[in-house]
Amino acid sequence: IPRGEVRTRFAPSPTGYMHIGNLRTALYTWLIARHQGGKFILRIEDTDQERFVEGATEVIYKTLRQCGLDWDEGPDLGGPVGPYVQTERRDLYGRYAELLIERGHAYRCFCTKERLDSLHGEDGLGGYDGCCRKLSAAEIDEKLAAGVPYVIRQKIPAEGQTTFHDVVFGDITVENATLDDQVLIKSDGLPTYNFANVVDDHLMGITHVVRGSEYLSSAPKYNLLYEGFGWAVPTYVHCSPVMRDAHNKMSKRHGDPSYQDLIAQGYLSEAVENYVTLLGWSPRGEYAEREFFTLSELAEIFDIGGISKSPA
Ligand code: GLU
Repeated sequence: IPRGEVRTRFAPSPTGYMHIGNLRTALYTWLIARHQGGKFILRIEDTDQERFVEGATEVIYKTLRQCGLDWDEGPDLGGPVGPYVQTERRDLYGRYAELLIERGHAYRCFCTKERLDSLHGEDGLGGYDGCCRKLSAAEIDEKLAAGVPYVIRQKIPAEGQTTFHDVVFGDITVENATLDDQVLIKSDGLPTYNFANVVDDHLMGITHVVRGSEYLSSAPKYNLLYEGFGWAVPTYVHCSPVMRDAHNKMSKRHGDPSYQDLIAQGYLSEAVENYVTLLGWSPRGEYAEREFFTLSELAEIFDIGGISKSPA
């Protein structure tokens, strides 16, 4: 990876159809890369098999192609330039989790579902109590030999604070005591999103992580993972949601149209892309008053500083 190259990634989960909020994230991610002459990576985050929706990956490819959001690299999957697909990289995450265990930043948890359920209060809240942190090496070996299923959890420091910077939201500090020992590798051996995104963003040399602001609360845990590995933290760009009304985000569940619905209704792709980009990003300077842009014009002028903190 050339020094100083800007590398961004769009990392959708194929758990539903691309709604307007997803499309906007894809646009901002692509525009940041193209504005700087950098690389735009497409990564399909399909490790949550329970939420997998048949056909969703194809809609993602089709939508990006129709929008002109071309991606740059990936393993050769038979197409012109293939994207990365996490389930095809499954072995790699386990190896990185082992490394974290060795370094004391993760541990195996053998707790049963019943025990975990009993930890949650009536409100359904309450994190893991760290019970398996206390297991001795001999106890762990015994359970492994007996084939007891386990997950791998992140070992959050009991004390101290974690601070990170987000380009849109500024500096954010949280008490480590408020973070829970999240699962990194599930009992089926597949990584959680929370682990895979950190490993992949590092391995793929991602410089700017662009995603929805719903992930801001998880960012301190990601920071602790980067620290645990000794990896540089990328620049975070968390984007506020696109709302349907004062309280609810746009969503398929509420019947809000997807990009494909809008195209089927006869809207031109260029018009949709222009409109969606301007939901939460404002051109500045000589372009401040302008309302219509082609995608390549947007790529020329797009600056991260124009992304709004308020929901659109
Ligand atoms: N797979 C996550 C999603 O679809 C992506 C979040 C991210 O970009 O890190 O919400």
